Amino acid sequence: MTDATLVLNAGSSSLKFAVYSCEPDGPHVRLRGKVAGIGTHPVFSARNAHGQPLPSQDLMLVSTEADHDALIPALLTWLERHEDGLTITCAGHRVVHGGRLRGGPAQVTPALLDELEALIPLAPLHQPHNLAAIRCLAATAPHLTQIACFDTSFHRTQDWLAQHFALPRALTESGVLRYGFHGLSYQYIARQLPRYTGVHAEGRVIAAHLGNGASLCAMRERKSVATSMGFTALEGLMMGQRCGSLDPGVVLYLMDTLKMTTDDVSHLLYEKSGLLGVSGISNDMAELEAHPAPEAHEAIALFCYRAACDMTALATSLGGLDSIVFTAGIGENSALVRRLIVERLGWLGAELDTDANARNASCISTTTSRISLYIIPTDEEVIIAQEVHDMMQHSPLGAISNA
Ligand code: AMP
Repeated sequence: MTDATLVLNAGSSSLKFAVYSCEPDGPHVRLRGKVAGIGTHPVFSARNAHGQPLPSQDLMLVSTEADHDALIPALLTWLERHEDGLTITCAGHRVVHGGRLRGGPAQVTPALLDELEALIPLAPLHQPHNLAAIRCLAATAPHLTQIACFDTSFHRTQDWLAQHFALPRALTESGVLRYGFHGLSYQYIARQLPRYTGVHAEGRVIAAHLGNGASLCAMRERKSVATSMGFTALEGLMMGQRCGSLDPGVVLYLMDTLKMTTDDVSHLLYEKSGLLGVSGISNDMAELEAHPAPEAHEAIALFCYRAACDMTALATSLGGLDSIVFTAGIGENSALVRRLIVERLGWLGAELDTDANARNASCISTTTSRISLYIIPTDEEVIIAQEVHDMMQHSPLGAISNA
């Protein structure tokens, strides 16, 4: 039997999972899958390493009404039937918030869980689900070593200016800082850059993670220099349902004049804004692109306008710009969004190769473009598997106790 790592990325309504065998040269993916629509109509899908679908009926029987707590034991049972020659010995989790101190992955202990629990108010949409999956796995499979990998860690290389708000120092010292998110995705892009950009990998790069959540990361020497997301995953770009940067006076107005409660405001900013709020139709970019209503196209135009404006702000943090990388669901698949963004960056010398863009090619800039443009598909799960692998190589760890 070969040791394997289970990677879990638990969201509010979805659970992504992958299994990697631990080989001497690093983790190799053996299967990956997803349960979407948790709490409403769960839909399970899984594929083996060759992309072939795996049977799912046996898991669906258990999970029709299920929440995460019921799904994880069902998933472990399902995995036992499909993990051919593998023994899962550890688990790596995506955890959205690691706070100020976590510049890398950490073994899950009761003390770490308490530390991460205290960060829930800073990532209310994601952190509770990430931690619930850890607790559930500890209860179901207490022999597993669990490692938490943080979306904030990659940004801990940023300097003082990039991490501060213009707020009184006492607040900053209490932790009101710009943490940044999507770090596991950016870490993957940083690793892939040499393959795509050759000698320019160490240069001034903006990576645009454009998915349902969206952010930008300015990198130099493949390290984070600045990012568009700050204290919570609300700041920065317009997103599927989140508003992105907003005049804080709007929040005061909503509460003082419109008498909205904090729950109402939170729901509005996290769930009802962004593409969904502006279009009034959908949070889904592909759906909006296909929709005839002018509101759908206004929402797309605003998304692209704001992304292009924020890119120029980040280019200033880098002192110039050599490359832009598009990634995640929208960045990898929407030729329209990439075109609308790049058209606004023409004054910086960015030129799109429209044929390459339409084909979702790896390099989508013309040969005369002053800024190189790339599409790099992201893979947060493999970064987690690699981090677990590296930790296990360097110091054998034990399973969590008393979780
Ligand atoms: P993610 O959160 O990375 O899974 O990305 C989800 C977003 O990617 C949704 O808004 C999808 O509509 C969008 N997306 C996926 N495929 C396409 C496509 N072919 N064209 C436009 N948007 C897409």
